[in-house]
Amino acid sequence: MTKNIESKGIQTQAIHAGEKPDTDTGASTPNLVMSSSFVVDEEISFSANNMSDETPFVYTRWSNPTIQQLEQKLAVLEQAEACVAFASGMAATAAVLLHHLSSGDHLVISNTNYPGTAEFARETLTRFGVSVTPVDSSDIEQLRNAVRDNTRMIWIETPSNPLLRISDIKACAEIAKQQNALLVVDSTFATPIATQPVTLGADLVVHSLTKYIGGHGDAMGGAVCGKQALTGPLRGEALVHYGGVISPFNAWLILRGMATLPIRMRSHEENAIKIATFLQQHPAIEKVIYPGLHSHPQHELAKTQMQTFSGMISFRTANAKQIAEGMMHQLEVIHYAVSLGHNRSLVYLMQTSDLVGSSYKLQDEELEKYRDSAGDGIFRLSVGLEDADDLCQDLAKVLR
Ligand SMILES: *Cc1c(COP(=O)(O)O)cnc(C)c1O
Repeated sequence: MTKNIESKGIQTQAIHAGEKPDTDTGASTPNLVMSSSFVVDEEISFSANNMSDETPFVYTRWSNPTIQQLEQKLAVLEQAEACVAFASGMAATAAVLLHHLSSGDHLVISNTNYPGTAEFARETLTRFGVSVTPVDSSDIEQLRNAVRDNTRMIWIETPSNPLLRISDIKACAEIAKQQNALLVVDSTFATPIATQPVTLGADLVVHSLTKYIGGHGDAMGGAVCGKQALTGPLRGEALVHYGGVISPFNAWLILRGMATLPIRMRSHEENAIKIATFLQQHPAIEKVIYPGLHSHPQHELAKTQMQTFSGMISFRTANAKQIAEGMMHQLEVIHYAVSLGHNRSLVYLMQTSDLVGSSYKLQDEELEKYRDSAGDGIFRLSVGLEDADDLCQDLAKVLR
């Protein structure tokens, strides 16, 4: 790896960290190593329990040269000691939750977040004897009050899906530390270009690499970054035993995507600001949520912990279903599709009945608060890298 990579700028890191020319051929860009087995010249234990950092490449489910380059690059970008890559963001999420929580433990988790995570916590973890308290983690007092003696983990997503609520990572870290609990941050919407949660006190950072980090919508992946003492056992148990290993080909595609992550994030933000401003003054729009707007309730907090406001916008209209219908048939540039963080712009209507009923199971005051922001449904727009004018024209056609 390039010497003193930690002291270099983030654009240099995004290109050079974790990479070195191939020792046999001198190939300058990363090799794709698809081999599942590696020839060894010493006896190596079959047990994940005996695996260490020094264990050579044996079998790709344990480690692989291409995947390792991705892990090292992401660790440098996150300013974390170590990183473990997984097959998807959900594989990474399930790994952290299953490995670091046990029967009798208590988890405090953001009450609106990625639906897969929300459902996993509420349905799967509780089956294994973990108690779960969902809270609005952007309200630090609510979070503090939810912590109990047996709280072992606080899981926040910031900015969160789909309301783009911002949680104060530093304040959450203090609460976690007092309780001897782990603070885990799903930083998928932010990326390491906006926020490096480890530097604010987070213990673990979770990413869906499928989104901005890969950036092209053509490879699924996930990752967990943090101290070696926390990620090492995760590799041993979660990766080797649960088996959610990323394909080296996907790792190679994501590595290639990461080289341009800093400049892509700048362009995503530039476009997002233009589009958020356009939406804000459009008569069909009832509400625009974007952390970069002064109108965002946590704009000041966002300014302190995000170096870029990223490219995710949520907006509300009247007649959302009709407009969604129009989007499916009339958009020329923007794709009506789920997911986010791609070079292409994507928009999707997140129906409130779906999310609060099936995923979040919100009630009373929290349900009212959610409806207050999202109404019957909120559009989630992942602003891509196309020309902002084309995106605005596309939206103008379907907003009425
Ligand atoms: C997409 C996403 C995930 C899940 O990642 P996959 O790669 O789709 O498994 C988790 N958290 C957030 C915030 C996401 O956007």
